[in-house]
Amino acid sequence: ILRAQNIQKHYGDLKVLDGIDFQLDEAKISAIVGPSGAGKSTLLHILGTLDQADSGELYFKDKDISQLKGSRLSNFRNSAIGFIFQFHNLLPEFTAEENILIPAYISKKDEKPSLERVKELMKILGIEQRSHHKPGQLSGGEQQRVAVARALMNNPSIVFADEPSGNLDSKNAEELHSLFLKLRDELGQAFVIVTHNKELAAISDERHEMKDGKLGRLD
Ligand code: ATP
Ligand code: MG
Repeated sequence: ILRAQNIQKHYGDLKVLDGIDFQLDEAKISAIVGPSGAGKSTLLHILGTLDQADSGELYFKDKDISQLKGSRLSNFRNSAIGFIFQFHNLLPEFTAEENILIPAYISKKDEKPSLERVKELMKILGIEQRSHHKPGQLSGGEQQRVAVARALMNNPSIVFADEPSGNLDSKNAEELHSLFLKLRDELGQAFVIVTHNKELAAISDERHEMKDGKLGRLD
């Protein structure tokens, strides 16, 4: 579903990614671990088309997406990709429901089916009682589940997550991890997850380590 070949990225003199190959299959959770500053977020952003590599190839379902620009890039990203970050990045002035609707709004989808989708997602994620609460009125675990629902709103083929449980206590982290497994098993959702969390790495389908600009397969 996603294939990257020989991805290179520099920041000035700093070579962050030095020829990365990566492949993700449908309904798989792929974890990327590695020390701070190794380039994990940089790689995740490039794989998720938030940032561009200096060179290398990137294919989504055998289609070359490395050269997409402008509205073709944003259309692709809005329809195929979801993102979850360490800090939920929810808009504080908007309710949970409104935050989850944002990707549909950006893609100019009709309101009625979108609201149906929000309800369905909130049910799957166990936050249906929280639809009119603002982020400040939600617990950390609930906020992160709203962020997951937002990432899933447009039914993306791949969800990219950067330290999704990095800001959660162990109980909420465990619940989030079970949720990822449920989404994989029930919806066939594919994930690429950067994490320092050993349990999350352990339950993933494959593990990669970012080190010295290279990505190596663990186990
Ligand atoms: P962490 O685990 O701390 O989040 P990381 O593996 O995600 O680290 P990156 O954020 O990808 O690391 O950063 C890799 C290197 O690239 C770091 O040395 C960082 O300072 C540098 N870097 C990242 N983004 C930029 C940028 N926009 N401009 C310049 N240097 C950058
Ligand atoms: Mg990072």
